[in-house]
Amino acid sequence: MRKPLMAANWKMYKTIQEGVDFIKTLKPLVEKAEDRDVLICAPFTAIHAVAAAALGSNILIGGQNMYFEKEGAFTGEISATMLLDAGATWVVLGHSERRHVFHESDEMINKKVHAALAHGLKPILCVGELIEEREAGRTESVVRRQVLEGFQGLSREQALKVAIAYEPVWAIGTGKTATPEDADAVHAFIRRLVAEQFDQGLADAKIIQYGGSVKPENVDALMAKPNIDGALVGGASLKADSFSKIVRFQPV
Ligand code: PEP
Repeated sequence: MRKPLMAANWKMYKTIQEGVDFIKTLKPLVEKAEDRDVLICAPFTAIHAVAAAALGSNILIGGQNMYFEKEGAFTGEISATMLLDAGATWVVLGHSERRHVFHESDEMINKKVHAALAHGLKPILCVGELIEEREAGRTESVVRRQVLEGFQGLSREQALKVAIAYEPVWAIGTGKTATPEDADAVHAFIRRLVAEQFDQGLADAKIIQYGGSVKPENVDALMAKPNIDGALVGGASLKADSFSKIVRFQPV
């Protein structure tokens, strides 16, 4: 049985105080959601304070990116150790904004996955096709490349710790959601890939989140699908009220 992972990606929103206030409001709204994991991926500056505010609750904290080197002359970057030190236990890697705005390659993302795991952070590896790739019938080949290269060189034990987020790029921040059926088909494809690369047991245990304009209004239908194991939520995660409704989904 896979435990759903309901994650907020705040992107470049929220000051420290706004983040702390959000956690204080969210805590009582999700405290009974014990059969699912609740994760807030905050901006670097707010991680320490939101982690302190979340202490003693069921809310986990993550970063949204990191660099693969341990330390050094890498101005503007942050390491896995620094994220852990600030209170993060998860990190989002390969988000489409990192791939397409900051031109991160599959090779670089794979190095980040290795570095996160080596230091004890659990990665969420994001994959997903552009609209032109979908229209050209290339969704599966793009997702295949991103998954296989993202997992390149991982042991089974390491691979177990990585969650995958399928986020079709055309659905992120656009209000367009993949239909639950379309999303589930890609999730099933990803699960088959993981089984081919590792084994069926690992594929069956793998958390595969959906991301792309998830809202309280569409989360129930998405989460009812057999291969959708959670959500990575941008816009609708910025208000505690709407994010808590997403966390408390009831599959239809
Ligand atoms: C995201 O940031 O990963 C995301 C899916 O954003 P949104 O929910 O706004 O589409």
